[in-house]
Amino acid sequence: MRYFDHNATHPLSAAARAAWLDAVERFPANPSSPHRWGARAATALDEAREKLAARLGCSPFELVWNSGATEAINASIQHLATTADGELWYSAIEHPCTVASAQRWFAGRQRAIPVRRDGVVDWDWIATELPRQRPAAIALMAANNETGVLQPWSGVRELCAQQGLPCLVDAAQWVGKLPAHGLGRSDFLAGCAHKFGGPQGVGFMKCPAKFHPLLVGGPQEDGRRAGTENVAGILALVAALEERETALELPGRRLPAVLEPRLAWRDRFIADLKTALPGVEIVGEGAPRLWNTVAALMPAAADCRRRWVVKLDKLGFAVSTGSACASGKEQPSHVLAAMGYRTDESDRMLRFSAGWDTTEEDWRALLDAIRQAATELQVV
Ligand code: PLP
Repeated sequence: MRYFDHNATHPLSAAARAAWLDAVERFPANPSSPHRWGARAATALDEAREKLAARLGCSPFELVWNSGATEAINASIQHLATTADGELWYSAIEHPCTVASAQRWFAGRQRAIPVRRDGVVDWDWIATELPRQRPAAIALMAANNETGVLQPWSGVRELCAQQGLPCLVDAAQWVGKLPAHGLGRSDFLAGCAHKFGGPQGVGFMKCPAKFHPLLVGGPQEDGRRAGTENVAGILALVAALEERETALELPGRRLPAVLEPRLAWRDRFIADLKTALPGVEIVGEGAPRLWNTVAALMPAAADCRRRWVVKLDKLGFAVSTGSACASGKEQPSHVLAAMGYRTDESDRMLRFSAGWDTTEEDWRALLDAIRQAATELQVV
């Protein structure tokens, strides 16, 4: 199977797998235990925290290990709801875990920030509304999971800092694909391992020292997240990230060298797709996007998205209709709706998301398979 669904989960990298296996051998004990084996596991966690903090540009004491971005966002939003007055503003294209957390914890005091047609959050809306009303906090994702469109999280965070407002950045799709440095300056930050080659079910958040925990029980993570840490998962997360970050290092260049060919392969695929299937529209094409993601409105076929996915699956290609969480329910994409697409348009969206091991040949083969699927679905 050629896999084009990395925005849902990136398969485990060799470095992460080796780190995981090594950790379960070397650190079998509970990091909270009082004996030497426990202390060794706790030290391994501290070293991992230091490495992550160095990559993000924050203090290790500000980082908390957890089960992933959904938990990080739930925890951050419930903390904000219990400690700050006013509304939570979040972009209308946030991941469902942010939207649902806002609805739960900020019920009756939440507002969606509009986005432009190209999928970028409406910066002017924020600048106009902020002087009129002071929210409790602003939540913005760094990169959108469905379209790959990059968001101006750094500018919004600076604006928040000037106003003394907390800013929550969901970096689940950014970390491990683009350099992480600077993300650590956000007041609240969410990330997870399985989007860049670490294991599923492990992630981190950045939060203040005085934090109202979502999970209560033991004193782990300085009282900010109860529950025994996933030591092997955390060490695997850091191993995967170190590998990605090393590849993304920028020795005096604007664009990391490792991204140049990958952007070229993506753009060639887009150009060839449009030639092969006139009428295909690339969502967010005018905006800066992740190097790995192509969200395309395909030609209409009855029950279009499912038929495309099934046909491509039979041809040996795993692709998606959008967010893994939303696609199970087959509801219209709230992301495309916020961008102004009608349901009959968003129903035609397929998402192709490459990974670090995807090759130029994989992109070419995907195009050939789409051509064949289009003929079989009689859309050309
Ligand atoms: N935020 C974004 C942008 C995502 O893409 C995802 C995963 O799909 C999440 C949050 C949730 O992450 P996790 O699977 O770690 O809970």
